[in-house]
Amino acid sequence: MKVKQKLAIFGGPKAISQEFPLYNSIGNEELEAAKAVVASGVLSQFLGSWHPNFYGGKKVQAFERAWAAHFNIGHAVSVNSATSGLMAAVGAIGIEPGDEVIVSTWSMSASATAILVWNAIPVFADIETETFNLDPAAVERAITPRTRAIMVIDIHGHPAKLDEIMAIARRHNLKVIEDCAQAPNALYKGRYAGTIADIGVYSLNYHKHIHTGEGGMCVTNDPLLAERMQLIRNHAEAVAGDKGVTDLTNMIGFNFRMCEVEAAIGIEQLKKLPRLVAERQAVAERLIAGLSGLDGLRVPLVLDQCTHAFYKFAMILDVDRIGVTRARLVEALDAEGVPGLGKGYVNIHRYPIYQKRIAYGRGGFPWTSSVYQGSVSYDVGICPNAEKLHDETFLGIEMCEHLFPEAQVNQVIDAFHKVWAQLDDLK
Ligand SMILES: *Cc1c(COP(=O)(O)O)cnc(C)c1O
Repeated sequence: MKVKQKLAIFGGPKAISQEFPLYNSIGNEELEAAKAVVASGVLSQFLGSWHPNFYGGKKVQAFERAWAAHFNIGHAVSVNSATSGLMAAVGAIGIEPGDEVIVSTWSMSASATAILVWNAIPVFADIETETFNLDPAAVERAITPRTRAIMVIDIHGHPAKLDEIMAIARRHNLKVIEDCAQAPNALYKGRYAGTIADIGVYSLNYHKHIHTGEGGMCVTNDPLLAERMQLIRNHAEAVAGDKGVTDLTNMIGFNFRMCEVEAAIGIEQLKKLPRLVAERQAVAERLIAGLSGLDGLRVPLVLDQCTHAFYKFAMILDVDRIGVTRARLVEALDAEGVPGLGKGYVNIHRYPIYQKRIAYGRGGFPWTSSVYQGSVSYDVGICPNAEKLHDETFLGIEMCEHLFPEAQVNQVIDAFHKVWAQLDDLK
């Protein structure tokens, strides 16, 4: 142990001396791939009518094949964002206006907006505190005669309790969509997260492990769901007639198409995914080992038969035991130079759109519409675990914002130990 040094927050020397290099997954391979597409002049080849080019250009189709092969799943449908992909997925399962879809509140807003956009009703269920994902018991409690689907999220990079969720869904005849934006390459009982539910959706947004600037990928083993997502992606209403599509439910098309440059970049990014995830895992393992002894700090758990992609390093504080508020701890750790500290998700149900129930127009549609016969609650207090985490006890470190060279991982660990050794001064 080093000699006790004054905390940086009180003017002492910082535990971390250097800036952390920025995380950047893009390299020369992506540059060359993008250049070749630009040189070809074909930046997109989608056609919004029933024609071979309905499925997009060469790179788009090659990227989809590579994705499906890597993740060992029947169909991959590229989109221009995971937000679009989630919308396509909810439409594809044949959701009706006024149906309820159970969703985790511990996520970013798009997980729920994708439901609302079809005039279906997001029903927020609480999370469990091992994986920060939907609590199967809370899902069970949230089921009503109007429930049609579950939107499960593999948040921070750890798969949800998918067997339990799928069992509930099968018992109640519900579809399941898996928002896997943060967990590409994470494993759940030997299968890739994202491939367990009826549809999985990955993000290729620039914040994620791998990216194409903006982009996303939907996967499914069901050819009908794949076709319906392809239709919603690309002007369904203009294609359905000529394609001979008979089920017109939700065949409202958008333009969710990915460009050739993004697809070419994505092909290169996918090759790097296992290495990039393994690097995050290696850093996380060192952090877990280094921080495990700290009183009142729960380091991330990795459940048996799962791997964790470590998009975020998610910890829980026992603030009573520590005797210092999270805000004060974050100030102190930040002053020492720990990067990417955060307090997690606000909770989607606490956004004004749900608190005021103003989405389409000003009259409270769809909640006040006669298509909705239920009485969903968005009251503060409906998701006590998730609310408490955000308000008091969650402490996260972003893992895809910076690189953590070995020496600096040790400095992060030192910074925590330094602060924990002087908690009394922070009270
Ligand atoms: C990033 C993210 C999304 C949205 O992804 P985009 O590609 O930016 O639309 C959805 N869900 C979760 C959990 C995410 O982290």
